[in-house]
Parts: sequence; structure tokens; C-alpha cells
Amino acid sequence: MASSLWHGFADMGAVTASGPFVITKGEGTKVYDADGNEYLDATAGLWFTNVGHGRTEIADAVAKQLSTVAHFSNFGDYASDVTIALAERLAEKAPVPGSKVMFTSGGSDSVETAVKLARRYWVEQGRPEKKIVVGRSKAYHGMHVAGTSLAGIAPNKEGYGETFMPDTETVDWDDAKSLLGLIERIGADNIAAFFAEPIIGAGGVYLPPDGYLREVREICRDHDVLFVADEVVTGYGRIGAGEWFASGRFDLAPDMITSAKGLTSGYVPMGAMIAAPHIAEPFFAGGVWWRHGYTYGGHNGAAAAAMANFDILERENLLGEAARLEGDLAKAFAPLADLDAVSEVRTGLGAVTAVQLADPATAPAMVLKLREQGVATRAAGQGALQVSPAFVMGTDEVDELASRFAAALS
Ligand code: PLP
Repeated sequence: MASSLWHGFADMGAVTASGPFVITKGEGTKVYDADGNEYLDATAGLWFTNVGHGRTEIADAVAKQLSTVAHFSNFGDYASDVTIALAERLAEKAPVPGSKVMFTSGGSDSVETAVKLARRYWVEQGRPEKKIVVGRSKAYHGMHVAGTSLAGIAPNKEGYGETFMPDTETVDWDDAKSLLGLIERIGADNIAAFFAEPIIGAGGVYLPPDGYLREVREICRDHDVLFVADEVVTGYGRIGAGEWFASGRFDLAPDMITSAKGLTSGYVPMGAMIAAPHIAEPFFAGGVWWRHGYTYGGHNGAAAAAMANFDILERENLLGEAARLEGDLAKAFAPLADLDAVSEVRTGLGAVTAVQLADPATAPAMVLKLREQGVATRAAGQGALQVSPAFVMGTDEVDELASRFAAALS
């Protein structure tokens, strides 16, 4: 079926030849295609439908807000009541007390905002030479210019010239010494910030080695390098342990957090950059303009969706359910590592798991086989089948999901 829609991350020739896989309905942990076939949603959309599909409570809250005042502006002294209320509520959940929140339209915006703020912060400190931003191999930080350059997935960076954004560096994703070595080599005086996803998501679901996050946090603190936790995937409960953020679970006290996705459970696009008080202070002290912001940052409809999403997460103890999923997923999926088609199962931290295919080239065929079994998933990184369900997925359903994976992979 020829369509005018240009899909993201796709070979459009192949999509045009095979036709798009069209989702027309969602309910809880399930989605339905145009023919009415039902699929377990293994991925919560693209890691965002934390409260599950079909929550009319969120839709109603958005409708009410849009018919009151859909949006205005949050530039200068303008703001909306609902956006201020959400910022207060989010600041209370932030791991560093007294944090300030700048809303964006999604994760990529949040990353660009943090990169720019890191550099501007050092300018305000009288240290403009601290410009370099450091990311990790395998990392994904969205698709804007800074995020593309900062990330560590080589194919995503190809085709835009030698240096898409200058002053970016990459270190090994799993070795704190690699960061330390870079700092010693190029000098902390030249480095603005280090960005890390607490769990590498789109790069293939890689869990941090024991002690790694605390170690890199310490290195950054010791060398006056800002530490930015990219929690677009791990935020809003997905990290498990009943925590809102991985930064809380691992006691990272980051200088900034970038987030999106689970903030609204994806019902309406929205992201947030959360800055610790000492980062915000120079910009709140008076006399400094930060010439940055987005028309739809803090959009009223999105803010209403986030408020209703938080209501549901709290009322139904869904952070507790995400903690349960950590154990459920590990128990159900770890045995799949014995299958010939599988080289490894990465699981046991947060409500995420990856089933790593022994032959990554088989990933597209495996995704189709899984669809035949009634599972909607995708391959991340190099042939890592993604499992990151909504927090409302029960233990029985997790077992069912794993047995469908086993059937497809056998
Ligand atoms: N950062 C991380 C860690 C992500 O996983 C993503 C998206 O998956 C982004 C940034 C970009 O977010 P968005 O696609 O909402 O722009």
C-alpha cells in the first residue's frame, strides 16, 4: 500500500513494498491492527505507555484543558497555571531538592536544552573554554544535532559530514576508566558535561556494570564536569525499585536530568529538562537572559496529560508494579538464553529486558515471527529484541509474552 507517510528509522522502499503495519486501537497492554488482530505490546509503544493504552482519564483531562485554554506561551513572564502546577509536582519528585524544570516537546529537545545549558552554565562561571560534551559508545540521545553527535551509535551519525557538531567526544559505555582517561588526555578545563543513560535503551538495552554509575558520577564531581543523566527511558518509574528516576535509585544527584516519554505516558508529546539548583542559580539570580525555549515547551494540553498520568501512577501504585516487573521479566525471559537463536538475555534491572539474537541479521524476520505469535516488538541496537511493557502488565501476561517469544524463536 503506497502511503504519503515518511516513517522514522525506516527503509521506505521496503516499507512501501511490504506495506505499513497499521495500529488502530490500544487497550491496556494490547494493541490492535487494522484487521482487528490483537498483539501484546511488548515495548509500551516506544518505551512510553507506562500506564497502558486507552486511559480515557488522560484524554478527558486534555480535552478539558484544551477547551479552557489550549496553550499560550511560557516565554518572558508568561506561563499557564497547569504548567506551573506540573513543574512544582515534578520538582518534588526530582532527586535533587529545589530543582528547576524547563519543559520541552520531547526527548531530543531535552537533550539539546541540556547541552546548551551545560555550555552556558560554564560561560556564566567565567569558564567559556569548558565546551566539550562527552557521550558513550552505544548511547542514544535523540536525533537533533547535539544529540546525534553526542550519541555512540555510528550508523546514526553517518552522512552528515565529518563533524556534525564539533566539541563532542565518546568514551566506552561500560568502563569508568575510559572517561577518566579522556579527562586526563584533553583536560577537564575543556569539558562541559558527561551524558549517560542509566540503562542504554535504543542502543540495545545494556545494563550498567555494577558500580559504574556511581564511579562516573564521582569522576565528574572530582573534575568539575557536569553529570547529565539522560532518563528519557529510565524516568517516571521504569527504573524500578519504586523510584521515579534512576538518579534516585543510584543516588547520582545529577546536575541535570533529561526526560520525556513516561512524563505523559506518550499520550501527548512532552519532555522536561530538570536542573539542580546550583545549575539554575546563575539564571535565576537576576540580570541574565537565557535565550532558549520552545513554543510548545510546557504546552497546556501536555501538562494536563502529565498531571493525569501522575495521578494514575500514584493512585494505582504503578511504580510498585514497575518494581514487580523487574523480577517478573527476569524470571520469565532469562531462560530464553538457552535457545540457539539467542546469545544473551539482558534483564534484572528496571522494567526492561533485551533478548539478544545470536545473529542480528535475523532481527527483521524475528520481529515478523513475533507478530505472527501476537507480539508487537522491535529490534534495538544490533538485534536486541526489546521488552519494556506498560507497568500494568501482570505476571501471567509477562509469562505469556515470554512463551510467545520462545515459540517465535524456537
Ligand atoms: N534520549 C534517550 C535516552 C532516548 O531513548 C530518546 C528516545 O528514544 C531520546 C533521547 C529522544 O527522545 P525523542 O524521540 O522524544 O526526541
